[in-house]
Amino acid sequence: MDTSVTKGAPLLGILGGTFDPIHLGHLRLAEEAFDGLGLDRLHFVPSAVPPHRPPPVLPAAERFALVEAALAGRDGFMADARELDRAGTSYTIDTVLQVAEEFPEHHRVLILGMDAFNGLTRWHRWQELFCHTHLAVATRPGAQAVGEAASLLAERAIAPDELALRSAGGIVPLSITRLDISATAIRAARADGRSIRYLVPEAVRRALTPTH
Ligand code: ATP
Repeated sequence: MDTSVTKGAPLLGILGGTFDPIHLGHLRLAEEAFDGLGLDRLHFVPSAVPPHRPPPVLPAAERFALVEAALAGRDGFMADARELDRAGTSYTIDTVLQVAEEFPEHHRVLILGMDAFNGLTRWHRWQELFCHTHLAVATRPGAQAVGEAASLLAERAIAPDELALRSAGGIVPLSITRLDISATAIRAARADGRSIRYLVPEAVRRALTPTH
């Protein structure tokens, strides 16, 4: 009889977004996902040309540099430039397939806030995602799963310890500290000349607004 304990695959988290700019809501989501899901590494992937929203305000190179500054010194968190290096619209399915090829021994976990998850069924080739990655969906102030997204969550919900044992297709609901911080509000504050201190990491604030 085989008595060996199956530990399963290491887990690689993917956190996509415009990061326009990166803020403490993103970082707290990442931190709690890393610990709560038992991730081995977490890639922050700024999108170059997001398909479902207006173009970002900050240039791509600056958004990426701010992500790098925010992650400095946090082992396991990586700034991943693959969408900036790719031509054309930034589709998550392409990112997941690339990551899968590069890290074949890992299971992937795509991390989303609830607002982003509610738009999932409008994404390019979204059904295919479930063949190549798990999802972790985090609570976000003011956002609850609705419509098709709510049904998907009910059908595919798994516990965190199943992520390493099943290759793809599960959704882990992730209850995280609710921080009502958004890049939209940060952009508005900057435009009005109001302080963004304590909404973004200090390194990001300094790089963005030396006067506040
Ligand atoms: P914007 O206000 O410009 O729409 P955003 O603050 O929502 O930006 P994004 O870069 O679009 O930031 O978000 C990337 C991912 O992080 C998404 O999955 C989003 O749901 C999640 N996220 C962003 N802010 C928070 C937050 N405060 N709490 C939980 N998840 C968040």
